[in-house]
Formats: sequence, structure tokens, C-alpha cells
Amino acid sequence: MPSEFELIDRYFRRPTRHTVLGVGDDGAIVRPAVGMELVLSTDMLVAGTHFLPDTDPADLGWKTLAVNVSDMAAMGAAPRWALLAAALPAATESWIAAFASGFFACADAFGIDVIGGDTTKGPRNFCVTICGEVPAGQALRRSGARPGDEVWVSGAPGLAALGLAHRQGRCVLSDAAAVACRAALQRPQPRVALGLALRGCADAAIDVSDGLLADLGHILEASGLAATIHLERLPGAALAFGVDAALARDCLLAGGDDYELVFTAPPTRHAEIETLATTLPLALTCIGEVAAGTPGQLQLLDAGRPMAQERRGFDHFDSGTT
Ligand code: ADP
Ligand code: MG
Repeated sequence: MPSEFELIDRYFRRPTRHTVLGVGDDGAIVRPAVGMELVLSTDMLVAGTHFLPDTDPADLGWKTLAVNVSDMAAMGAAPRWALLAAALPAATESWIAAFASGFFACADAFGIDVIGGDTTKGPRNFCVTICGEVPAGQALRRSGARPGDEVWVSGAPGLAALGLAHRQGRCVLSDAAAVACRAALQRPQPRVALGLALRGCADAAIDVSDGLLADLGHILEASGLAATIHLERLPGAALAFGVDAALARDCLLAGGDDYELVFTAPPTRHAEIETLATTLPLALTCIGEVAAGTPGQLQLLDAGRPMAQERRGFDHFDSGTT
């Protein structure tokens, strides 16, 4: 059985590209570029809470870093450095090797140096701290939305939640739909290129980790504003797979784990954002408008008629509404 230090050397120590001092000392050293601010974030994945215990380790490795990269995307920051704190029940090398392969595949895909961490025995749990760079003053914040802004969402929200429902036997998907939903759940694609392109264009942004409505609600609360969302404008992939309509709609509006971006921008940017969708390429859909009103309030319209939607998203300490 390898020692803690053999495990680190074998699986978590890789050459770095833009780091002064990486894994192996008591601390890592990085040097931000002139004129840049550092954006820092941390996210934890716990067995049984964030992933099913039998999740494929390579997928889990990818997702462990990807959910952190997504926070950088939502800030309009370029992800640069990451640290990984890992608790593992045993030093099972095949499992750790597969996890590391997924983790570093994500690091390589986004040009991230893994510069340190901690490795300990315990119930399976992964905590990443990520650091990105953004030109001073240009980060996208939740608090920047303005009355009259349009609300946009990237990609096809709801697929990850449908993938989970499928895995848990709560719905049946066709083979093709199952592949798409499984990919959304297990290999989320952080929208870094979109986040970078939205600097100087969007007023506010957030990534969808808890649910489209819940996360849009965070923008509205931070900005002290309300919004109207038009159901028929939402990207309808989650509704098109032939599963129970109520479940599909719940996944679309309140399903977590998509890691798409929700952002607001002035209508004067509408054409620019449509062009961006073509050049990225990535579906960008205008789904509603921001207005003055009770902070955080969301009005949902279905073909112009008010509709009820109880659940906004996932909350760890409240399994009901959020
Ligand atoms: P210390 O005891 O000084 O905290 P550790 O023995 O925990 O140091 O770690 C040794 C080195 O390996 C440190 O540079 C640390 O950042 C790095 N490290 C530990 N675990 C990981 C990991 N899972 N991924 C990346 N680097 C790690
Ligand atoms: Mg340590």
C-alpha cells in the first residue's frame, strides 16, 4: 500500500506552466500578471451529498475541478491555479489513478496548474480551492444587474437533473437522451470562454449549480431587483425527451448541477450576444427581463399567463422549496 507521499508524487504532482513554486513545499508561490486581480473560490464534493458512491472515478475527478472552474467562468475570470484537499477511505490505486486522470484532464482543458493540496484518510470528500485572474475592476458580480436588463442563459439547463432522475429510476430516457443527460451530469463543461467574453458586456452573472430560478434569484437579491421569465422561451431540450411533463419542467427550472451561466445585459447588447452565440459556438437564449420590484421576486409567465412553480432549486438544509 503506497504512503501518503507516494500517492501525492504518483498522482497529484504534475509539471506546472505558469507557477513560481508548485507541489512539494509548505506553500505554493504564484505571481499574478500586472494589472490583474485574483478571484478565489472553494467548493466541496461529498460522497452521498454531491455524488453517488458508485460514480465513475474519472468522471468524479473531472467534475470536482469543473464545478470550481465554473465559478471562475461566472466571475469572468481566467482560471489559473487550483489546490485539492482529498479525503480517501483507502489508498486504492486504481481508483485514485482514474480520479486523477479526470481531474488533470479538466486542469489541462482549461490551462490550470495544480499547485498543492492535502491528502488524508476519511470518508470520500474533495475540496478544491481555485484562483483565477481578471483585469482589475472587470469581474462579473451578482450585484450588477440593472432595471431593463435582459436575462440570458447558456446551453440547455435541466439535463443534469434529468440525468440524475434517470440514474435514480425516477424517469426513463431513450438511449440518446440518456447519453446527453449523463454527460451533463458527469462531465459538466464550465463556460469559461463565455465568461471571458461577457466582461464589459454583461451586468451580472452566476453559474447554475443549485437551479436556474434559485441562481437567478441570487442575482436579483444581490441587485435589489425583480424579473419576469417566459417559460416558452427557455431552451426546451429537457422538455423534449418525453418524460413526465411536471418532472421535466422542474428539472428545467429548478434542477441543479448544470453549470451553465445565467447573466443579465442591457438590451443594447442583444445583437452582440447573439453574435457571440455563433462564434463560441454555444446556445445563448434570452429568457426574460429584469425590473424594479421586490428584491429576488420572480414572475413566471407561460405564453403570457402567470404560472406557479414552487421549487426554485436545491438547498442543502431544506429539501423542499428554496
Ligand atoms: P504539509 O504537511 O506541510 O501540509 P503535506 O505533507 O500535506 O504538507 O503535502 C505535501 C505537499 O503535497 C504540499 O506541497 C501539498 O500542497 C501537496 N499536496 C498534498 N496533497 C495533495 C493533493 N491531493 N493534490 C495536490 N497536491 C497535494
Ligand atoms: Mg498538509
